[in-house]
Amino acid sequence: MKFDLIIVAGGTGSRSGMDKLHFTLRDTTVLERTVGAFLCFENIEKIILVMRLDDVDFGAKIKKNLGDNRIVITSGDSTRSLSVLNGLKLSTSPAVLIHDGARPYVDRDIIQRVMNSVEKYGSGVPALPLADSVRRVSNDGIVDEFSRDELYSVQTPQGFLREELLRAYESGDSFTDESLLYTRHIAPAHVVEGSERNLKLTTKGDFASLNARVGIGYDLHKLALFRKFMLGGVEISYEMGAVAHSDGDVVIHALIDAILGAIGERDIGTLFPDDDPKYLDIDSSIMLSEVMEICAKKNYKVSQANVVIVLQKPKIGDYIPLMRIKLARLLNLATNDVTISAKTNEGVGDIGEGKAVSAYATVIVV
Ligand code: MG
Repeated sequence: MKFDLIIVAGGTGSRSGMDKLHFTLRDTTVLERTVGAFLCFENIEKIILVMRLDDVDFGAKIKKNLGDNRIVITSGDSTRSLSVLNGLKLSTSPAVLIHDGARPYVDRDIIQRVMNSVEKYGSGVPALPLADSVRRVSNDGIVDEFSRDELYSVQTPQGFLREELLRAYESGDSFTDESLLYTRHIAPAHVVEGSERNLKLTTKGDFASLNARVGIGYDLHKLALFRKFMLGGVEISYEMGAVAHSDGDVVIHALIDAILGAIGERDIGTLFPDDDPKYLDIDSSIMLSEVMEICAKKNYKVSQANVVIVLQKPKIGDYIPLMRIKLARLLNLATNDVTISAKTNEGVGDIGEGKAVSAYATVIVV
């Protein structure tokens, strides 16, 4: 069966306090990812983006990026219902799918289930049983309960026969989604299984967690007599120190590689070549500050760091609180978000024999 797809992309995003459809997810925007999810369906004839008038350039850019001539752009209206109706006017296929622009994680299976349902029953609406109990609340008090078994949360894409949906729209009623309009005026909309991943991005928190990236870093330096011993930006009082072109701070070097990895950059050796005299004996915190600038330029922020130091001698437990403070300052974090553990190598290998020090770091950036 042939479908036209109407994507509702005309909202102002007031609940998230930002224009959520423009928000970037990895290397694309929310709306572009949403549109992209449908491109593999060859039975979709038109992809109609219903957008605000001042936003049509954004739609044109998406069309160009995706290079798909099925995409057409039309202007939205004051309500969701009127916006969908604008899209419907451009539709010519026997069936239509209506989808929220802010549901970029819609997958192929759910789209196929909806299409199959339209073919078989004339409508298809993805829905999920509620996980939480639901109560009616008035003046801060529970006044009524519902049987959870009968309650579902309704998602999109919702599919209908075009003529029937148009007929339902003739009523002039306005609803939050088309399934209710269809149910009131045509027939009970047929429910298919939704997906937990198919969430509608609504709040700032939804975006922060979706964009989190993780990085891991590792470093090791030999130890030798009469070298300054820097760990986590703190000078350790000891007869030996790290042998390195820079100050040899393995903690900061591991952190730098973890951050660079998380934000999709190469590594410390590429950024600060160890044959460059500029970096001879350089304070590693200066290198970390430069990396933080790269991070900021790419619009990333470190949100958490965890470090493991492996060192046989000396005992460094007393230095850890100061390391956390120093690193937190360099990473623009609260001290609580920088954690450091230290361990010996149980006498095993070069580290165990006191000939080297190493560190592992993981970071989360958002
Ligand atoms: Mg190093």
